[in-house]
Amino acid sequence: MDLDLTGRTIVVTGGTSGIGLATVRVLLGEGARVAFCGRDGERLDRVAADLAAVHGGDRVLARRCDVTSADEVAVFATAVGAWGGGLDALVNNAGQGRVSTFASTTDANWRAELDLKFFSQILPIRAFRPLLEESPVAAIVAVNSLLSYQPEPHMVCTSAARAGVQNLMKSLSVEFAPKIRVNTIVLGLIESGQWDRRFAARSDASVDRDTWFADLARSKHIPAGRLGKAEEVARAIAFLASPAASYVTGASLEVSGGVSRFA
Ligand code: NDP
Repeated sequence: MDLDLTGRTIVVTGGTSGIGLATVRVLLGEGARVAFCGRDGERLDRVAADLAAVHGGDRVLARRCDVTSADEVAVFATAVGAWGGGLDALVNNAGQGRVSTFASTTDANWRAELDLKFFSQILPIRAFRPLLEESPVAAIVAVNSLLSYQPEPHMVCTSAARAGVQNLMKSLSVEFAPKIRVNTIVLGLIESGQWDRRFAARSDASVDRDTWFADLARSKHIPAGRLGKAEEVARAIAFLASPAASYVTGASLEVSGGVSRFA
């Protein structure tokens, strides 16, 4: 199947690590031009240089941008506009989960989490929408979590915010139709920077990486028997972002190794 991504321009937020970086790589491999952002400028420059060495500097645009800042997102959108070539897809991936129970979540934590989860979607969508509307194949892909349907008590505010994002994207898929397709990726547990950080902070430092991740998969009852790889998510994102998914909108694609219990 041809994803028809050659020469398309795609924005990926949070493209310097984990799922976002894997998505940037897959899209570049499919021939797209990719603009991506992150907050850590040093890592951004390093990743951009690596990608440019493999795929050519003319197909890579990296900008420092915190997606919860309207001003920074507007500057990023202006840079993408000035890059030329329009915009064919926006992948809203930037973010991370918050581990906390209702008892341990302060009002400030709630506000920060709702801000991150909602505005990491709202601000880029608002800023990039004019460019997307000029494309005949426009698509938005929101990276979301199974927590939106299967909340975990130890991630109470992330779960609630994720549910709201699912709802928001469904609304946008109707409001933006037929011009822009809007879909979500619903993730289970995926090996990435987030899980690497939790592994690094493990209580028993003598446990090696393979054992720690295998125990995690067992404890979460993942039918596939392991966590997902970032590349496995990236391929699903690339499909939804591509013209190959031309009749798919308002949908959620679950990438979870079968761990969901909601359908
Ligand atoms: P990583 O930590 O590996 O990557 C996160 C990326 O997002 C980095 O590039 C980071 O760069 C960037 N980022 C984070 N916050 C911001 C911000 N405010 N503005 C701009 N960029 C930001 O995590 P994952 O790959 O695991 O996560 C990707 C997405 O998938 C996240 O939204 C996450 O919540 C979601 N997800 C992941 C799951 C998993 O199991 N891995 C499960 C469910 C959902 P920098 O820090 O430099 O800004």
